[in-house]
Amino acid sequence: MIHYSCDQCKRPLDPDEDLRYVVKMEVYAAMDPLEESDDDDRDYLLEVQDILQRMDDGANDRIGDDVYRTMRFDLCADCRRKFVAHPLGRAANKQFDFSQN
Ligand SMILES: [Zn+2]
Repeated sequence: MIHYSCDQCKRPLDPDEDLRYVVKMEVYAAMDPLEESDDDDRDYLLEVQDILQRMDDGANDRIGDDVYRTMRFDLCADCRRKFVAHPLGRAANKQFDFSQN
């Protein structure tokens, strides 16, 4: 049986008692349509994935990460509430602390 824990506070989540929330983040380079056309319902995200699959021959791992990246987190109810209230603020404060050199 799979046991989950909160990715934010590391608290183990009891499947019988705790609600578990899943956060999925998709970060990808915005691509504007090259030209407008009436019947254009192309899925640009799909195209990005397509490009990445073609690039996926090994040489361009770092570029791929820059262009398209997904992340997935499990959160407890408390952390979910905080995350929804400040989805970027918390991340910026806690995880992108590059300035301490
Ligand atoms: Zn938590």
